[in-house]
Amino acid sequence: YKLIEGDKLRKKLHNTILELKGNIRVFCRVRPLLPDEGCNTEGKIISYPTSMEASGRGIDLAQNGQKHSFTFDKVFAPDASQEEVFVEISQLVQSALDGYKVCIFAYGQTGSGKTYTMMGRPGHPEEKGLIPRSLEQIFQTKQSLLSQGWKYEMQVSMLEIYNETIRDLLSTNKPSFENGTPGKQYTIKHDASGNTHVTDLTVVDVQSVKEVAFLLNQAANSRSIGKTQMNEQSSRSHFVFTLRIFGTNESTDQQVQGVLNLIDLAGSERLAKSGSTGDRLKETQAINKSLSSLSDVFFALAKKEEHVPYRNSKLTYLLQPCLGGDSKTLMFVNISPESSSVAESLCSLRFASRVNACEIGTPRRQT
Ligand code: ADP
Repeated sequence: YKLIEGDKLRKKLHNTILELKGNIRVFCRVRPLLPDEGCNTEGKIISYPTSMEASGRGIDLAQNGQKHSFTFDKVFAPDASQEEVFVEISQLVQSALDGYKVCIFAYGQTGSGKTYTMMGRPGHPEEKGLIPRSLEQIFQTKQSLLSQGWKYEMQVSMLEIYNETIRDLLSTNKPSFENGTPGKQYTIKHDASGNTHVTDLTVVDVQSVKEVAFLLNQAANSRSIGKTQMNEQSSRSHFVFTLRIFGTNESTDQQVQGVLNLIDLAGSERLAKSGSTGDRLKETQAINKSLSSLSDVFFALAKKEEHVPYRNSKLTYLLQPCLGGDSKTLMFVNISPESSSVAESLCSLRFASRVNACEIGTPRRQT
């Protein structure tokens, strides 16, 4: 009897904490070892309790015999499927249709599974990621809400931020960063009703998942790819996918405007490991600056400071209307299980636990 009561109490406490914490969540996902990574020779460096006690929220990391423990809103073990991960975010995606501004980030070192989490594995439909799954859900729900009088218009834009410069991934006229052409200077503007405009950015009206899939493919082809010693195809830019949703219901005279931002952040690895010099060093410094600006914004919001330093990076300025207020944010911190990555993993977990301590905006409205 005491055990049952204890469980109930713990659940209640957990729910109360979630309510108090507001609109930001952090999920940690550990990817499996890849076939060419062999086995972890230094023993178990990452462990995630599976007992009821931790309810899948704790993760321990051992470095030089020292244990570091972290707690997040959810921890996904390496065997968690894309489907299982999506189940946990489908309500958040739904809230964009209800008129909320939603941001979902993937953070972590290169090779930790950010793109897998966001996009999935190419050519393996059962392993599709959050972006295609979210779009399927949104377009399905849009269809089912027609009978209740709701009509939706959707617009997609995709951009990347590389070295603090915005690049339009859907533009047919693509300047190249690689050959030093600076390209167009896209300017970010926020209007009085809290909407973001990026001057000259291509915005496409979309009617179906198929149309968005076509655009995603176009964007993937134009992303800038850099080479570091760590990963031939490491992503050195932040990828921002934005879906704007305009809903009207003539019979009830209601209108909603939601935004879903899905962001695959650039690799968070530190200088020494990526062996950066010259242009690569500049890239890494720009990445570090924007990631620490993101962390500073979360921190300022958490402390309810009057001044939130949105303007310190293009990424935070772009997303300003979607970070704070009654917007909803989810950060995936992706972790590699390799023992050689333990220092980077520890940095990622520390970054994420700083974000996780946030309490943003007004109390969360359940949708
Ligand atoms: P990042 O975007 O962080 O650089 P990737 O998403 O490209 O990392 O992942 C690196 C490799 O690991 C890819 O081959 C990817 O398919 C694989 N991978 C990542 N996460 C998982 C997972 N949860 N299950 C299976 N394979 C994964």
